[in-house]
Amino acid sequence: MHFRESPGKPKRKGHNVKRRKVVVVEDEPAILQGILDMLEASGYEAAGAPDGEAGLDLSRRQGVDLVLLDLLLPKMNGLQVLAELRKTHPTLPVIILTARGAEEDRVRGLRHGADDYVVKPFSARELLARIEAVLRRSPERPAPVKAIKTATGTVDFDRSEIVFNSGQRTGLSEMEAGVLVHLATNPGRVVSRDELLMRVWGIGGANVETRAIDMHITRLRGKLKTPDGDNGPEWIVTVRGKGYMLGPDVTLVASEQTEPE
Ligand code: CA
Repeated sequence: MHFRESPGKPKRKGHNVKRRKVVVVEDEPAILQGILDMLEASGYEAAGAPDGEAGLDLSRRQGVDLVLLDLLLPKMNGLQVLAELRKTHPTLPVIILTARGAEEDRVRGLRHGADDYVVKPFSARELLARIEAVLRRSPERPAPVKAIKTATGTVDFDRSEIVFNSGQRTGLSEMEAGVLVHLATNPGRVVSRDELLMRVWGIGGANVETRAIDMHITRLRGKLKTPDGDNGPEWIVTVRGKGYMLGPDVTLVASEQTEPE
């Protein structure tokens, strides 16, 4: 692959800002290396995978900001990777890399939930512009939520505890707090059991028993009842056949907009 334009100097966004992490799934070694070098020269942290299976695995790791996904791949093709990835990471930005003339692939990719596509061969400038545009509108990095509130009390994420209006406190397990944090960072969106398993428990793949999630939610709801047994407004809503979401009467309390890294 030829990069017709120089990627320019690495962007300096201040030393406190974490570098964005991009996964590149591409089986052509020269293209893969070219993209990785270009991303690193432009201030990104980049990791590559040479086939679909490894790509899916890498994309699901903690802290990934964006995935560049080739479609014709060994082991698992790009559309299969995208379909699997969307079960656990419905909003993770994905840009597909397609061959010139493969319009059908592009349409299918977008229909499968890709955010954008880039046609090979592409220039470094073109690819970087697409990456930046997709990252700018990405919901994956919402303002960090410090706490959530309803009429009956507050869940404090720093302390992993529920503080009821009566002053009584109940501690949350790491997983219970994790479920609430994930729902609170995706307000207004239904989160599937698969997504919770992957994002909170770190367990992935199909065939995983999701009933365990329901049991955790039931116990968590029990803890969220006030000490005198009042349910109050619903903290977690069950969406039949789909998963869970934060209740409509839950208020988010945002952390201060500083990024201690
Ligand atoms: Ca390929």
